[in-house]
Amino acid sequence: MGRRPAILVHGGAGQWRERYHDAARAGCAAAVRAGLAVLEAGGAALDAVVAAVRALEDDPVFNAGVGAVLNRRGEVEADAAVMDGVTLGFGAVAAVRNARQPIDLARAVLDDGEHVLLCGDGVWEFVRERGWRPCDPAELITERARERFEQARARNRGDVAADPGTVGAVAIDEAGRVAAATSTGGMSYKRPGRIGDTPLCGAGTYATPLGAASGTGHGERFIRALTARRCVEFMGQGMAAPDAAHGAIAALRADTGGGGGIVCVDADGRLGAALDTDAMAWGAGRAGDPRVLAAIAPRGRVAIDFDGAG
Ligand code: ASP
Repeated sequence: MGRRPAILVHGGAGQWRERYHDAARAGCAAAVRAGLAVLEAGGAALDAVVAAVRALEDDPVFNAGVGAVLNRRGEVEADAAVMDGVTLGFGAVAAVRNARQPIDLARAVLDDGEHVLLCGDGVWEFVRERGWRPCDPAELITERARERFEQARARNRGDVAADPGTVGAVAIDEAGRVAAATSTGGMSYKRPGRIGDTPLCGAGTYATPLGAASGTGHGERFIRALTARRCVEFMGQGMAAPDAAHGAIAALRADTGGGGGIVCVDADGRLGAALDTDAMAWGAGRAGDPRVLAAIAPRGRVAIDFDGAG
């Protein structure tokens, strides 16, 4: 089967409580459709991953944009990144407050090209030139985020696995170009100023002409293991995306104890995903195929099977 434009998104790895499964599946499917609309119109993989992540940020079931978890001060501090596999262009923002669509800020850093990563209030200084303004913090904070915060405050620590919902996407377009994007509120009850793997090139987000990867999970570990880069390197060595995803998570586990998931696409358009937490929300679609897959995957390799889908 020839290569065709495709997109794979995730909505975070951890412990997805059953009551959120339907919403997480629906959110992933909607994000896939947003990305596919770009790809089917002949658009670039880079634009498709940004469109998909925007949709996920708007959905309060995920830990990104609206619904993001709170830090120890009770604030949302977002991290986001986007990488273009063609040019190795990378744009990211970290620990930015009051951002409704952090991925747009990351994209602005990428398009500007002077730097690759801006953090904190410097982000707003930069985009103010474009007329963009911070949102009201209350727009981002959901009842569920507040509950998680109160529980963490009572324990005086966050719980990595219990707060999934980081979002990400990888895509390949008609021209065979790949891209990756990731966005998150980070770890719940994190220290103010904490920056995770998501906006760090090669840790939570990475892309080259040979493949693209977006991760979710224990950020400190992804940073130490450079898991997204590892995944892309495996694809560069000739591994198909499903094997590269599995290999990257196995390596994360061997090197650091693990605790995460990853989605990836290789240069032949194969999609792969794997996780070593209890569950990960994901969705996938291909141009010209009306079937959009979306599921909460259990630990292990994720079976992304369009032909087996009903
Ligand atoms: N990787 C994210 C972080 O550490 C959290 C997550 O994916 O759940 O910021």
